[in-house]
Amino acid sequence: MRTTVGIIGAGPAGLLLARLLHNAGIDSVVLEGRDRTYVEQRQRAGILEQGTVDVLRAAGAAERLDREGLRHDGIELRYDRKRHRVDFPALTGGRSVTVYAQTEVCKDLIALQLEEGGPLLFEAEALAVEGADTDHPRVRFRRDGREDVLECDYVVGCDGFWGSPARPCPPR
Ligand SMILES: Cc1cc2nc3c(=O)[nH]c(=O)nc-3n(C[C@H](O)[C@H](O)[C@H](O)COP(=O)(O)OP(=O)(O)OC[C@H]3O[C@@H](n4cnc5c(N)ncnc54)[C@H](O)[C@@H]3O)c2cc1C
Repeated sequence: MRTTVGIIGAGPAGLLLARLLHNAGIDSVVLEGRDRTYVEQRQRAGILEQGTVDVLRAAGAAERLDREGLRHDGIELRYDRKRHRVDFPALTGGRSVTVYAQTEVCKDLIALQLEEGGPLLFEAEALAVEGADTDHPRVRFRRDGREDVLECDYVVGCDGFWGSPARPCPPR
């Protein structure tokens, strides 16, 4: 298998990168060690900062976010029987945060990738990046019990905090 950009990991970083590359006309293949259900149900972030919302909109991936996300304009701290409002837009020139779970962002990006983007392979665990110091790096990965190779011009590790793909996927 061959592609321009091999992306390791289908978390928000890998999925959004694949979307941005697709929009720029650059092909990619995403390798994700877990299955689709696991990735779509993995509970993590709940709040998106303004910059994240902006980039998802620019990537054409915010249709449901704009419909279902809850804009959050501030918080109220209470002490000494007084309310102290922290007004985000007033303090930041109009910026706010949005309550929209990371699971939903991943679902939206996965759906777009499968409909419009390049291959997104679940249960495809990257085992090693080979030739990283050459013009033709390769990702060795395992899928369906078989080892395969993804030949690329570029490899991007979007495998989260776990680091080198030479290590196995993080435990659940
Ligand atoms: C409990 C919790 C709450 C959080 N709350 C917030 C919040 O409110 N707001 C906020 O902005 N952020 C929050 N975060 C942080 C946010 O979730 C992370 O910043 C985000 O998940 C990072 O995305 P990522 O794509 O870089 O990595 P990840 O989401 O970790 O995705 C990495 C992907 O790579 C895959 N992978 C790993 N190794 C391999 C391999 N060898 N081969 C193939 N695939 C592989 C993994 O299975 C995974 O799908 C929270 C995090 C946690 C844990």
